[in-house]
Amino acid sequence: MLNLKDINYSYNKRDKVLDCITVEIHEGEIVAIAGRNGSGKTTLTRIIMGIMNVDSGFMQLDGNDITKAIPADMAKYIGYVFQNPDRQLFANSVFKEVAYAPKQLGFSKKEIDASVKKALDATGLTGLEQHSPQMLSRGLKQRLAIASALAIKPKILILDEPTTGQDCRERTILLRLMRKFNLEGMTIILVTHDMDIIAEHAHKVVVLEKGLLKFHGTPLELFSNEELTVSLGLELPEAVHVGKEYNLGICLTPREIYKKLKERNHAHV
Ligand code: ADP
Repeated sequence: MLNLKDINYSYNKRDKVLDCITVEIHEGEIVAIAGRNGSGKTTLTRIIMGIMNVDSGFMQLDGNDITKAIPADMAKYIGYVFQNPDRQLFANSVFKEVAYAPKQLGFSKKEIDASVKKALDATGLTGLEQHSPQMLSRGLKQRLAIASALAIKPKILILDEPTTGQDCRERTILLRLMRKFNLEGMTIILVTHDMDIIAEHAHKVVVLEKGLLKFHGTPLELFSNEELTVSLGLELPEAVHVGKEYNLGICLTPREIYKKLKERNHAHV
């Protein structure tokens, strides 16, 4: 669906921030982008959004060349949720915030009303239409940013560190929403430092280091290789630690630990 081939980019035309990155993202995947701070994760998502254009390499979306696309082109297909929702929200009401992008894209009034309603329903914000975005809690602001991205019915949703600064309840709600959208067919690109989220939710992980693609595979493949994981500045997920401690092999989630423990107990009866 989204193909990036030999992508090179530098901000100053000298130091490469993305160095020959080739990534293929398939429809319906949740793809996590991980790596140390400064490794190029945000730059890569900005390139995908057309905010900056590559120095060389090419990009395709559904077979169409998007190498020279601009944000207005990509906004029809990709919703982008910034790490800090305060940087994204600007309207004086929740309704106007969510209606902005569909309006820009030329939706009719009827279509705008319907897509705002659907996006607010999906994110649990119905009833807050006339509230000021600035007065919402951090968690609700984040969900509003997601609702705004959803309003254009994107094929791909990019979430940049969506759980940073969120309390436990909001984190759970966000992850549940992400799974729901994914189950409904949306492709998700998730920039995150949270290895537990990657282990539990991602189908694929891309790890960058100093602009180089250092790993591209499944969470199981990554976390089965502790040496590689640590060398890339990442931690093993908690479930992997616990699984190892109890000699259960590689477990990616608490549920897997429980299942394997149960199987082992049965085997001993
Ligand atoms: P990450 O998201 O992994 O933390 P970034 O993509 O933000 O990494 O940054 C990658 C590199 O590009 C870093 O060395 C950073 O200092 C540099 N960089 C990011 N944004 C800019 C910018 N606007 N101008 C110049 N350099 C930048």
